[in-house]
Amino acid sequence: MNALLAPVPRRAIRELPDELISQIAAGEVVERPASVVRELVDNALDAGATRITVRLLAGGVRLVSVEDDGGGIPRDELPLALRRHATSKIASLHDLESVGTFGFRGEALAAISAIADCSIASRLAGADKAWALDARSGELRPVARSEGTTVDVRELFFSTPARRKFLKSDATELAHCVEAVRRMALARPDVAFAIWHEGKAVAQWRAHEGPDAHNRRVADILGEAFMAQSLPLDVISPAQPGSLLRPVRLHGRVGLPDAARSRADQQYGFVNGRFVRDKVLAHAVRSAFDDVLHGQRQPSYLLFVDVDPLRVDVNVHPAKTEVRFRDSREVHQAVRHAVEDLLAAPRAAGQAPQSGPAGEPPATDGPEHLTGARNGGMPMPGWPGLANDASDRGTRNPAQALSQTALLWGRELSAAPLAAPPVNAAEHAAAFSESETWPLGRAIAQLHGVYVLAQNAQGMIIVDMHAAHERIVYERLKTQLAAGSGTLASQPLLLPATFAASPQEMATAEDSAEALQTLGLEVTALGSATLAVRAMPASLAQGDPVALARSVLAELSQHEAGSVIERAHDELLATMACHGAVRANRRLTIEEMNALLRQMEVTERSDQCNHGRPTWRQVSMADLDRLFLRGR
Ligand code: ADP
Ligand code: MG
Repeated sequence: MNALLAPVPRRAIRELPDELISQIAAGEVVERPASVVRELVDNALDAGATRITVRLLAGGVRLVSVEDDGGGIPRDELPLALRRHATSKIASLHDLESVGTFGFRGEALAAISAIADCSIASRLAGADKAWALDARSGELRPVARSEGTTVDVRELFFSTPARRKFLKSDATELAHCVEAVRRMALARPDVAFAIWHEGKAVAQWRAHEGPDAHNRRVADILGEAFMAQSLPLDVISPAQPGSLLRPVRLHGRVGLPDAARSRADQQYGFVNGRFVRDKVLAHAVRSAFDDVLHGQRQPSYLLFVDVDPLRVDVNVHPAKTEVRFRDSREVHQAVRHAVEDLLAAPRAAGQAPQSGPAGEPPATDGPEHLTGARNGGMPMPGWPGLANDASDRGTRNPAQALSQTALLWGRELSAAPLAAPPVNAAEHAAAFSESETWPLGRAIAQLHGVYVLAQNAQGMIIVDMHAAHERIVYERLKTQLAAGSGTLASQPLLLPATFAASPQEMATAEDSAEALQTLGLEVTALGSATLAVRAMPASLAQGDPVALARSVLAELSQHEAGSVIERAHDELLATMACHGAVRANRRLTIEEMNALLRQMEVTERSDQCNHGRPTWRQVSMADLDRLFLRGR
């Protein structure tokens, strides 16, 4: 898999020269049993192991034993392995700068043997004998074992009872140990892992091969639910012109906004296969979710960032859980854009989350599947009516099939009631048979003026019409503002709408005239306590000018006028979209409802409203059957 992790031919363990030692971020590496687990498993992976077994007693406090089938350590080097600053992984500053192994400081075993009873048993690949070294006595004796290494660490902090007191319960320490192994196992599906506690198997993940290995390991560890609720990501961000460095590759899975959690407990970031807590990565992902996440919800993700080792410094933190990117801006942007693009495509258009063991992401290499092309050529398991039917799909492409009504609906954001045109029953019935082919189906009815009910191939769709329309209007406003002139097209009102304004509103209207203009609004003073709305954004022309102007003024008054368009731009547009969107209790015709569904299918991020709440839900026939205890 990751070429960076491929074991380099073994070199002898040597003590690092003093000037290199001074360059190394030293410090405490052993905090608790999980730190020991991490260091020992790192070593096993560095040694090219394909099978790693972790055995624990009392949460790891009494014993952490890590057995591997890697390259082993020659007899003469066993004592060196325990010496401080002795390593086989780097020999020079140049090696340090491009290090591709997890270890490089030659400190872990030394630090661990200083605070616990340590022994190493190892058989070098190709050797006919295995040797064991007891760290305390220094005794070296032959033992029987297969190729590979086992490091046993007993009675952690036995000589420092004060530190031992800081450890939590065995169950908590065990949980930390398991989490440490999970993180490493997520990055290395090609390696089999097993964890035992007090003689009982706690977790076991077998090795996977082939292009699908990673997804299978992720499903093993994070569960099918995570697979079903996440989208696959795999992009190579374009190299800087003239750069000799390898381009950044991002891959992994990103949880759908709906699957966001109250805690940040399902966020896994890896840099070159190493689990890290990196603020740049976390922030980049969170900001990609800004527009679709509700409140304080936390996204789930598993993100592997593979960069040229020269672009990242892993030598900044003793436990190596933090890294420093040489160009963190570039990484931030690459991550943010990749995740944003992934989330933007409406699932309503057929990009249903993959589910089930067979629902593996399509084999795509490179960034193509992040472009609009993705809806054109991949199976869509969530929508049986559409799946694997390329010939058909062309004509059923929602974008092409947008009806005239849909376009009308799209443009005219009428917040005022419309007279319902008479429905032609025959036409309706004919159209109905087609319902199965639309991802969001055909509208059937409106429920209490709030929800639109539709029927699709799988069953029933329920749409929160205001929330859905709000997103459609919002996305349109964003597109308009981003395009061409950078202002929203404005439409003068025949009769200016006036209202009694507060001093605050008067002041904001004057200070922010330019910002208002950008937003397609013209609001001028008419006397000392009255404002007149003279022009409205053309696309919101059906809305209430006074209500719109007042909320925009309120929003603007909270920001500094100059920076408002850059910084508060999304909030402002969201406020405006709310005014432009169809209100609850507005009766919609079936055509209008269908138009809304078709718009949703082609609008980016339409699965969430502007506040991150879902806009639609599928209730399958199976769900309904369950509701009625109906066996199928
Ligand atoms: P580092 O990993 O930074 O080199 P460690 O103290 O963790 O430092 O290990 C010291 C050395 O012992 C390593 O460089 C490696 O040569 C050897 N070693 C440790 N564990 C293993 C193992 N499981 N298999 C093979 N060699 C090992
Ligand atoms: Mg190490």
